[in-house]
Order: sequence, then structure tokens, then C-alpha cells
Amino acid sequence: MSNIFPIDLRSDTVTKPTVAMRKAMANAEVGDDVFGEDPTANRLQERVAEILGKEAALFVPSGTMGNQICLAAQTRPGDEVLLDENAHIFNYEGGAPALLAGLQLRTLPGDRGRLKADQIANAVRGGASHLPPTTLVTVENTHNRAGGSVYDLGELQRIYEIAQPKHLIVHMDGARLWNAAVALGCPEANIARFTDSVSVCFSKGLGAPVGSAVAGSRDFIKRAHRFRKLFGGGARQVGILAAGALHALENHRARLADDHAHARILTELLLQNNRIQIDLPVETNIIMATLTGETVSAPELVTHCARDGVLFFPEGQHRFRLVTHLDVPAEAIEPAAKIILKNLAQ
Ligand SMILES: *Cc1c(COP(=O)(O)O)cnc(C)c1O
Repeated sequence: MSNIFPIDLRSDTVTKPTVAMRKAMANAEVGDDVFGEDPTANRLQERVAEILGKEAALFVPSGTMGNQICLAAQTRPGDEVLLDENAHIFNYEGGAPALLAGLQLRTLPGDRGRLKADQIANAVRGGASHLPPTTLVTVENTHNRAGGSVYDLGELQRIYEIAQPKHLIVHMDGARLWNAAVALGCPEANIARFTDSVSVCFSKGLGAPVGSAVAGSRDFIKRAHRFRKLFGGGARQVGILAAGALHALENHRARLADDHAHARILTELLLQNNRIQIDLPVETNIIMATLTGETVSAPELVTHCARDGVLFFPEGQHRFRLVTHLDVPAEAIEPAAKIILKNLAQ
């Protein structure tokens, strides 16, 4: 039996390229992508556009750059952007919207990260000269900081429908859109159709070493292309990376269901101890847990578990996060739960 340790539940970004993925990358046909001549990057972009049901897509180095390109390409400096207060774009992208696109971010309190159509409709400003024009809203699906929560399709449709007459652009931070599609049991395009632009990551649960993409109308992608260059994201023989992303797209999407099942099993095992509470339901591959009563602190629990070969992150003094992914096999779930429970006591 292969050694399952360390069991790394810190993030789905820790996955390493598989042998088959590395082979696809090594054998990739390449060209100069700044000239638009990289056949593998072009193939990836066409495939992403097809899967997301958009006219065109663009390969970019990271999810952060993807989001920032989308914001910059669809707004003007001085515009206001609406988003959930726990959004990745607001919390984990270094304040880039202010620096790179001159945007004012206005946060709203979401329901586990999800905004409601009414809430957005009430928050849109504009018209008078003393008001900032609200021109874009971002929705994060699945929601990272809120524990992998999935937007309801009906709500997304309502958001898109109230946005249109207000000339409000809908951008989806879909770093884990793949997980949302698996959780809802629908094609990605059924979700992305309620957006004007979407960013997706290949380097999270899909297991590619590098890369994200943005998708939307042909006209939008043309503008996005300029901002990718301007932000320093134009690359040359990028097909080597695109091949990893393409391999991930074709081979690792359906298996995300395994990660979701593993997260549910891990949840059940941990809930056998009443000193652990978990934000329910666990819809995808992220578990947010809270320690209650007589236990060690979350940072102490993390330190003790790390010594036993189970890695994860604390979220403050009493909360911690567990993420399942491609490199956490089924047989690692029970040992991980046992080690966490064993280390709870002070
Ligand atoms: C990971 C992530 C991103 C982008 O991250 P990069 O590390 O820049 O690739 C964006 N949004 C969400 C919700 C994410 O989880």
C-alpha cells in the first residue's frame, strides 16, 4: 500500500501534475503566443469557450490576473463594483482593483458568500454627478472563504436579469466553477450563461500546475487581450502550460465528484465529536469547522496534526479549514479524521 502521508488538506492548489499530465506537457506543440501562434494555447482557449458556452476565451497566468483583467476590461476608473464582503477579489488580491483599474469596491453581506438579486438591485447607484457609477457586480462560484458554497441557478438568473436593464455587468469569479457544475449536476455553460465574463482556474481542483482563463464575448476578449499584455501576462511558448490545463480539463473534471464525496465523509466522521461544528451543508470540497467547548485552539490543533502528518490551515482562534482534492485519496479520509479527533484534547 502506498504511503498516504502527509495528508495535505490545506488547499486544492497543492496538487501536483500527474505522470500523464507531465507527458502531455512535455509533448505539447508550441509557438509564440504573443503572435497568437501557439497551437496548444489556441486549442485550450477554443475548448474553454466551448465548455463555458462563450464566444471566446483567453489563457492567463493566474486566477488573480484573470479577475483583474475582467474588471479592467469592463469598467472605467472611478466606477463602483459590488461584491460579497468575503470575496476573493476583495480579500486576497492585494487591493488590485484600486491599483490596476482605479475601482471603488463596495462590499455587501452575502449568504455564505452568495449575493441576492434584490440586494444587488438596491445597491446599484448612478445617475447623479455626486454618486459613483455602479457598473459591475462580481459573484464567486463556488465561494472559497465561505466554504465552497454554490450559487443557486435561479438566483443567478435573477441577478443577470436585474443587471441587464441597469447596464450592470455580471462577472463570475469561477475559480471553482467546475466544482459548482459537478455539485449541481449540470454543464458549466448552464451556469456561465448568466454572466458577461467568467474567470476559471486550472490550478485548483483540476490539478494543473499553472493557469487560468477568462471567457466572454469576442469583443470582451479583445479588450482582455490588451490588459493581459499590459499587466505583464503575455507569454511565449505557453503551450507547455496550456497542455497541462487541457489535460486537466478533459480528465479531471468529472472526478471532482470524488473530492465532494470525500469532504462529506470527512464531515460525518468529524461530527461524531460534539466539540466540532461544521458549516453545513458541505456542498463541494471545502469544509469550514469551528471548535467548541474544551479543546485546544485551532492553531494548536493545526500544529499537533501537522506533527502526525495531517496538514490544514487555521482560520482564527477557533476555526479551521479542510480542502479535499486530487492528491487526497479515499483511503486518507478516515486516518485524517482520526488524527484530527485525537488531537482535540487540551
Ligand atoms: C484561488 C482563487 C482565485 C485566484 O487565485 P490565484 O492564486 O491567483 O490563481 C480567485 N478566486 C478564487 C475564489 C480563488 O479561490
